Amino acid sequence: MSSESQQAISLKKFTNFTEWFDELLLNARIADNRFPVKGFIVYLENGAYIIKRVREMLEEKLEKTGHKLMMFPLVTTEELFAKEVEHIKGFSTEVFVIEQKSEKGAERRLIIRPTSETIMYPMFKLWIRSHADLPLKVHQSVNVYRYETKATRALYRVREIPWNEAHTAHETPSDAEKQVKEAIEIYSQVLKELGISFLLLKRPDFDKFAGAVYSIAFDSWNPDGRVNQVATVHNLGRNFSKAYDITFEKKDGSRGYVYQLCYGFGYSRVLAAIIAQHGDDRGLVLPPPVAPTQIVIIPILFKGQEKEVMDYSRSIFNELKDNWRTVLDDREDITPGEKFYYWEMMGVPVRVEIGPKEILEEKVTLNRRDTLERIQCSRSNLVEEVKKLMENLMQNLRERSERMLYKLIIDATTLEEAAKAIDNKCIARVAWCSSIECAEKIKEKAGGEIRGERYDIAEHPDRPCIACGQQAKTIIYVARAY
Ligand SMILES: [Zn+2]
Repeated sequence: MSSESQQAISLKKFTNFTEWFDELLLNARIADNRFPVKGFIVYLENGAYIIKRVREMLEEKLEKTGHKLMMFPLVTTEELFAKEVEHIKGFSTEVFVIEQKSEKGAERRLIIRPTSETIMYPMFKLWIRSHADLPLKVHQSVNVYRYETKATRALYRVREIPWNEAHTAHETPSDAEKQVKEAIEIYSQVLKELGISFLLLKRPDFDKFAGAVYSIAFDSWNPDGRVNQVATVHNLGRNFSKAYDITFEKKDGSRGYVYQLCYGFGYSRVLAAIIAQHGDDRGLVLPPPVAPTQIVIIPILFKGQEKEVMDYSRSIFNELKDNWRTVLDDREDITPGEKFYYWEMMGVPVRVEIGPKEILEEKVTLNRRDTLERIQCSRSNLVEEVKKLMENLMQNLRERSERMLYKLIIDATTLEEAAKAIDNKCIARVAWCSSIECAEKIKEKAGGEIRGERYDIAEHPDRPCIACGQQAKTIIYVARAY
C-alpha cells in the first residue's frame, strides 16, 4: 500500500484532529471528558484496559532490570517540598494543597505530589548507608497532580496524571550515566512494542526538569503538529542528594552524596499517542499487545444455513480463544455490515468473517484493520496464519508511524521557512548557536518551542544559526507542543 493511500484513509485525523479525537474517545469507550472538574477525566473500559496493558508491559521491564515496586504517600510537607530550590521554583505555582485544621484552629498545609522526589528522598536518606545499599532503584505507577495553567485537553494535558515514576541512586556519575541509558532503553522498547515513533531529544538547558542537570525527552508526533511528550529521563546529579542529605560510605571509607535519576512514563499521553498515530477515519487501530479485543468473529448468516454458520463460527472461536482475546459477535439484532463498522471503530486488529462459502471451502476470511486487506486462509493452518498476520500488522503500524514522523520533519534554513513548517503542522529542524537571545527569537518568529537536540545520534550543523547567522553549535527541533 502506498503512503498516499494510507494518508487518504486518515484524512479527517489530519485536517480536523480535535473533533476526530474527541469523538473517538467517547465512541470507542476510551474516556469521558464530561466530569465536572476541569482536567480530571473518566477512563472508560477500553481506555482503562489499554493503560493497564501498557503498565504491565512497562513494569515487567522495570522489574526485570532491578527496579523495586514500592508505594509512597500522596502528600508531602511544605518544608520537604521547599528543600531543592530549583525544584520548588518549577512546581510551586501548580501544586494542589490540602488544608488541615486542628481542633485548636492551627492550620497545616500538605502538598499533593506533582511528582514524588520530595516524598521519596527523605526516605532514601534513611535507607542508604553505604555503597552496599547502591544502586537503589524504585518505581511506582500512580496519579500525580498538577494544576497547569495551560488549557486542559483530554489525555494530553490533564491535572490528574496517571504515570509511572522511577527513582534511582548511584555511587558514581558514570553509574548514573549508565542508568540514563538503561531507562531510555526500557522506554524505547515499550514504545516500539506499541509502534509509537518519537524523537529522542535532549532538552535545552532553559527547559530541563526543575532541579535536573539535564533532561531527555521522548516527543511523539501528533496529527495536529503539536508534539506529545510521552516520557522523560532526568539526570539529577547531586542536586537533590545535597538538598535531602542523602550520603553513603564509600569503599575507601569516606562519605559522599549519591548521584540520582528520576524518570517518568505518562500513561494517558501514551494512550493518546496510540490513538493519534495509528487511528484512521474509521476509528481506532490498536496494536495487538494492548487491544482489549484482538480478534472478532462475525458470522454471515444466510437463510437455511444459520446453524451450520454458527457451529463453524463457534469451532473457530474455540480454536482462537486460547491464543488471543477473541469475541464471537453473535448478536442477532444487527447486520454484519453494522458489526464491521462497530468493530473497525473499536480498532480490533483482526476480523474473521464466516459464511457458507467459507464452510464449503474449509476456509476462513481474515480482514486486517491497519490496511483493511482481506486474506483467505485454509482452516487447517488458521492459528499460524493469524500469528503471522498479527506480527505483520504490528510491524506495519511501527513502520507507517516512523515514516510519518520523518515526513513531518522539515529542514528550515530561515525563520520564515520554520514558521511555515510549523503552520503546516510539521516539526522544523534548524541550526542554532545555543544563545538564549536566538532561542527567544526562534520561539517568537517560528511560533514553536525549542524541543532540543537529538540524543540518540549526533547531528552536526551544516549551516549557520537560523536566527543570527553566526556559527551554529547544534541542530534542534522546533514544534508546538502539548
Ligand atoms: Zn544565533
